[in-house]
Amino acid sequence: MKETSKIKNNELLSRPPVVVILGHVDHGKTSILDYIRQTKVAEKEPGGITQHIGAYQIEHQGKLITFIDTPGHEAFSAMRSRGAKVADIAILVTAADEGIKPQTKEAINHILRLNLSLIIAINKMDKSAALPDKVKKELAENNVLVESLGGKVPAVLVSAKTGLGINELLEMILLISEMENLKTESLKSASGIIIESRLDSQRGATATLLVQEGTLKLKDAVAAESAYGIIKSMENFLGQPLQQAQPSTPVLITGFNQVPPVGEEWQVMTSPEEAKTKAQTKAEAEKRKREPAEILDVSPEQKVFNLILKADVSGSAEAIREALRSIDQSEIILRIVKAEVGDVTESDVKLAESAKAKIYGFRVKINPAISSLAERRKTKVVLSDIIYELIKAIRDDASRLLKPEIAREKLGRLRVLAIFKTIGQRQVIGGKVAAGKLTKNTLFEIFRKEENLGRGKIIQLQQNKQSTQEVIKDRECGLLVESEIAIAKDDILEVYKEESLKREL
Ligand code: GDP
Repeated sequence: MKETSKIKNNELLSRPPVVVILGHVDHGKTSILDYIRQTKVAEKEPGGITQHIGAYQIEHQGKLITFIDTPGHEAFSAMRSRGAKVADIAILVTAADEGIKPQTKEAINHILRLNLSLIIAINKMDKSAALPDKVKKELAENNVLVESLGGKVPAVLVSAKTGLGINELLEMILLISEMENLKTESLKSASGIIIESRLDSQRGATATLLVQEGTLKLKDAVAAESAYGIIKSMENFLGQPLQQAQPSTPVLITGFNQVPPVGEEWQVMTSPEEAKTKAQTKAEAEKRKREPAEILDVSPEQKVFNLILKADVSGSAEAIREALRSIDQSEIILRIVKAEVGDVTESDVKLAESAKAKIYGFRVKINPAISSLAERRKTKVVLSDIIYELIKAIRDDASRLLKPEIAREKLGRLRVLAIFKTIGQRQVIGGKVAAGKLTKNTLFEIFRKEENLGRGKIIQLQQNKQSTQEVIKDRECGLLVESEIAIAKDDILEVYKEESLKREL
């Protein structure tokens, strides 16, 4: 292999920390990321950030910090579900006026499990309702003991609105990364993780790679787990072309043969052929792992709801997958026949037809010709730009396969006084309403000396030889009923109504 670096020995070099921001929705993750980006990047670069690549780098006190900034949570959850470690430090944002919420707890669990260094950012300190001490106490109740309460976790009071505490937060990141002593081996071949990917109409498959080890260079042969290629172009988050990228740098590259999913690991291989073989072997192993589980694990009581998922970037496809995984599948299995980045295509519609699947698209389009093909083939296509709405549509559609819940309402009781006529399973009987009331088109159970003999149905109801809808307590009436049981004098009919209730997943 050509030696491009001047370093001969495998020295340990420092690398910038990679930071991810987590926390409950609306507690200010995006605002903090935006504030840092605007104040720390835009002032130096006249054009500012021209593109969104899922991560950016800033310089503070002469040192670099990398922030993961995808649809933040989505990428992180995709990576988490694959067990990949992307960040060194997690900032857990908690709004000072709201405290710990479900997603805060969820984030704490992930951070502890992944063993990430943690900094608490108590945000919205500009608000008069801010109660940082309360937040700290709630954190303590959730296994996070901050420094001021005698623990080890640093907490910084910030406001993404006024900028209060943001410098302190950045200093804390640098301090922690110094303590962590983040190093990388200089001669190691480059590897890392995919943090965002999409299909660009002009450039083809594009992906944001985080370089975790080694130096990634233009023209390197790279293998992810399901895609491979030679790096055709490489840019930093400002859209500036790069020849090479050091550890902890996010880069936007083109050259993959297809869009690799977020969270996949990648590495530089010695040749394009080797990259291809590696990706293909991995993809096949992955397929073998998945397919039998998807097809065979169906018990006779379960039904399968097939769906095809299309999304703008693989981060969102993964986020939807994750959300679907959290739905109870004991009765209905949500089987993803295909999940892919890109607009709805003709082959999606054909696959949907043969697999009896429905198509769900997140932030993607369908052209009119394909839309009318789907209509002709009676394939349902649901598109939405809101994840929640799309998940709801999937839930609603799949819920139709659930057996309805039958709700029974007791109406009344009839004592049989006479049997007038029997024709096959139909009988004309007379009786007296002993409790409640009777109505037409209702059901009953037949009791003889407290033994339940079976069921029947009231077809017609008469009072004083007149047809009627309803007969109330203490009145006598004539009935035309249908039942497999021959009803006899003195039998008791317990009359009820059944309603089938729609259930939801
Ligand atoms: P995310 O869902 O965690 O990314 O939260 P956002 O950054 O989108 O913020 C949610 C809302 O809180 C937005 O309306 C923000 O303007 C507001 N917000 C965020 N940080 C602050 C802050 O420090 N102070 C105040 N007053 N509002 C904030």
